[in-house]
Amino acid sequence: MNSMPAVAVASMIRRQIGDDHICVLTFDRPESGANIFDGATLAELSQHLDFIENDGSLGGLIITSAKKSIFIAGADLKTLLQQAQSGDMRIFIAKGQRIFNRLAALKIPTIAAIHGACAGGGYEVTLACDYRIASDDPATRIGLPETTLGLIPAWGGCTRLPRLIGAEKAAEVILNGKLYSAQEAWKLGLVDEIAPRDQLIDAARKKLAEGKRKPSAAAKPEKEIPAPRARGNPAPARALEIVNRTFSISPDESLRLELDTIVDLGKTEASQNLIRNFFLAEKYKKGTSRTPPEKVVHAAVIGAGVMGSGIAQWLSSRGVTVILRDIAREQIDGGLANIEKTYADAMKRGLMTEEKAKEGRARICGSTAPMELRDVQFVIEAASEKIDVKKEIFRELAMEAGPKTIVATNTSALPVSALADVTVSHEHVIGLHFFNPVSRMKLVEVVIAKETLEETRDRSLAFVRQIGKLPVIVRDSPGFLVNRVLFPYLLDAAELFEAGLEPDKIDTALVQWGMPMGPLRLIDEIGVDICIDIGLRTTRSRSRCSALVARPADAWP
Ligand code: NAD
Repeated sequence: MNSMPAVAVASMIRRQIGDDHICVLTFDRPESGANIFDGATLAELSQHLDFIENDGSLGGLIITSAKKSIFIAGADLKTLLQQAQSGDMRIFIAKGQRIFNRLAALKIPTIAAIHGACAGGGYEVTLACDYRIASDDPATRIGLPETTLGLIPAWGGCTRLPRLIGAEKAAEVILNGKLYSAQEAWKLGLVDEIAPRDQLIDAARKKLAEGKRKPSAAAKPEKEIPAPRARGNPAPARALEIVNRTFSISPDESLRLELDTIVDLGKTEASQNLIRNFFLAEKYKKGTSRTPPEKVVHAAVIGAGVMGSGIAQWLSSRGVTVILRDIAREQIDGGLANIEKTYADAMKRGLMTEEKAKEGRARICGSTAPMELRDVQFVIEAASEKIDVKKEIFRELAMEAGPKTIVATNTSALPVSALADVTVSHEHVIGLHFFNPVSRMKLVEVVIAKETLEETRDRSLAFVRQIGKLPVIVRDSPGFLVNRVLFPYLLDAAELFEAGLEPDKIDTALVQWGMPMGPLRLIDEIGVDICIDIGLRTTRSRSRCSALVARPADAWP
């Protein structure tokens, strides 16, 4: 950066102007790891715009962030929830729209240099700039998640994004509500360029030399994009209405529509519940423990099948060294091939650099031989779902593990206490139930057995949080939480199938209703054998589970 006399006028956003007359606004909320848009930040941005509009000597504007892993995380959800409840949302949203419109109307070229999470209002402020350039760092995640919170992008997202990348792609981004890596964002047109993190600001300066962006002829939808599934959340369909209409009205009218729609949605129970749900998940992610958690650096995973290899991959990608054990070389090789595939997929999606993937893979050591596990902090057993197999493993682990090693099982349905009973230190046994595919599923059920120590529970919760998953404490009862809720539904679908209904009809009906995949497909994904085990344990009824197999329940072993 050129030598810059700092002209700090506000505390959330620093303004610096270099010899080249480029103004840099750096978002840096004090005493916080994140930047967000609340009323005060909007007011500060407005003051900076007053200055920029009145300084005829400026040649361009760069908007960036000083945070390690966040550009701007979006609008302050606490403010939004309060306003949704009190009916005051209109003033706040209208203020944001006015300020972003002023940014969009600046006569000088403008660019957002994005490093870190850039979500919702954080992305919409960049849409009001001429250009967007993103760092290639995996921390950079860009998108508009508002519809997942029962709201819509109302600071120009439904108006400017379709004009930038076309209605169809804009609908995809807004309706999915997911955050994209820099590479994915570039492919979609959400950003114009990608640059290494340390060259981001220089690359932004270079881009400004192109001058103001020429208006693009973004594609209108050829035909109206069909309404998405409702899932009890009206927001995606309401957002789509605007995306479908925005080309036939003026940008100002479209912004007014955004404003009316978000105010409307904010009053609904669905939206208020979704925002509350977000806060609950955040609270659970952070936890309340005051003692600093031990950092887990060594773990072992027993069983290199679908789940074992998935867990080993995830741990290794989070800096934990893993011994991956199975009974034969063939199984280990299969597990390592799965791991390789998951790493390759993460690199392809721009979620990880090649170097990080290489480092991760190198942390896994496959083995078929029993070995000393004294220094291992966690062992996670993910072997076949057979009580005798698991008991044998737990007996062996009792001899190999150190006095402080926590021995966890990933069982879907077997009683954790029955496994603890065959070991010498019952108090260090717990269930850590990951879901499939491990790299995508956030939740981990932490199953507390009869004699699990409180300390074991706390260390396990901290471990799950350390690896970036969301722990939920459950009792050692059939099906724990998720399968207890899921299985009656899966068994109903299997019964309909047995009664002669076409499988496609069953799955399509449930997908249309709002489930991410049909129940029969899900049974296949989990594996029919595992479904039978879980079904039997959760329902205790063979006849209830008979629909899962092509033979009568009384013929089962
Ligand atoms: P899998 O059949 O893919 O893998 C099991 C592995 O365990 C095999 O490689 C097998 O060789 C190995 N194994 C058997 N005996 C062993 C021993 N004595 N020592 C070491 N390895 C041994 O099964 P999976 O789907 O990965 O399931 C593993 C566990 O995870 C089960 O308890 C299952 O209930 C649970 N689970 C499965 C899913 C799922 O969707 N598949 C989801 C959550 C939990």
